[in-house]
Amino acid sequence: MKWESRLSPVVNAIAPSGIRKFFDIAAEMEDVISLGVGEPDFVTPWTIRESCVYGLEQGYTSYTANRGLLELREEIVRLQQNRYDLSYNAKEDVLITVGVSEALDLAMRALLAPGDEVLIPEPCYVSYKACAALAGGVAVPVPARIENEFRITPADLEAHITNRTKVLLIGYPNNPTGAVMSKDDLLAIAKFAERHDLIVISDEIYGDLTYGGEEHVCFAALPGMKDRTILLNGFSKAYAMTGWRIGYALANPVFIAAMTKIHQYTMLCAPVTAQIAAIEALRHGEKYMKKMVAEYDRRRGFIYDGLTKLGLKCFEPRGAFYIFPDITSTGYTSSEFAENLLMSEHVALVPGSAFGDCGEGYVRCSYATSLDKIAEALARMENFLKNHHK
Ligand code: PLP
Repeated sequence: MKWESRLSPVVNAIAPSGIRKFFDIAAEMEDVISLGVGEPDFVTPWTIRESCVYGLEQGYTSYTANRGLLELREEIVRLQQNRYDLSYNAKEDVLITVGVSEALDLAMRALLAPGDEVLIPEPCYVSYKACAALAGGVAVPVPARIENEFRITPADLEAHITNRTKVLLIGYPNNPTGAVMSKDDLLAIAKFAERHDLIVISDEIYGDLTYGGEEHVCFAALPGMKDRTILLNGFSKAYAMTGWRIGYALANPVFIAAMTKIHQYTMLCAPVTAQIAAIEALRHGEKYMKKMVAEYDRRRGFIYDGLTKLGLKCFEPRGAFYIFPDITSTGYTSSEFAENLLMSEHVALVPGSAFGDCGEGYVRCSYATSLDKIAEALARMENFLKNHHK
């Protein structure tokens, strides 16, 4: 008690991630099937791992430039050019970070003055609001609804604009809903950002994971948006590289210089081993990534059918590797549902409330796990639903 009062009030006010709590309980149990973790079940493709082993053999063990290896920055710039016809300068517009996690933190800290407001469509990734608060800003949640396929519209955002609104943070394909935004949806958001002179942070970490012919639309590539957008991406999800801790930010040189200032004093640089591996991922990893995405797609269809057959209303996800069924028919809150399912059937998933108030009534299931395990989890859920009703 005594020591808690000595902590920063900002830190005291932040709740621990609702995801971790369930991991910790599940880790103590035997025979648990986890649909809780937002992490590929694949090992990083061998060619990527091998490049790192080779790099170590060659003695690449030192710091790199604060902004990261120029070779990696050049690969990233090439990718944006080829894929989105979007031109960045490798020397000034790119910062290599310790995952998208660090890039998010840097972007918030570089932009926000105390009290500045950040519009954040919800349900959203658990770090968004915490990062805004830790940077001294105020997170302003904007509910997205299943009726609109969890997409956000300018009208939704307009209702939350104040004279302190400075940043709009979007994350599509979305964690936890699997929603994507079409080009027309995003063009409308771009107009809104322009009208209110907002800076947009666009977290596109799931940009490679889209399904059913859905083409990912890069927000920075929309007319007029490159200069006002901080584009974040990384290697964790698409290349099954969560443990390597590597990501990047692309933006105008003023934003990147500000983010680099914080990065150089707090992180110095991203790990050289991971940077070497990331170069290989961009040069030779695409075919392995595409195979993994095809497998996620198979699982997506399977789990969507399975949950629907169990009578749970589901939005069919179009991206990322999550599905977000509505569990209100059970009479449980999302926390009660997740807790009871874990205790009685040893299936771990995450209560929707962990992703914001409007996630209440839903649970997040990750399908980044094998079809066999998904099938077993569905059988256990069927059992649970037969025996548990409030
Ligand atoms: N952004 C979103 C939407 C995520 O879901 C995650 C991880 O789950 C991250 C960022 C963090 O990714 P990284 O491993 O690159 O730090």
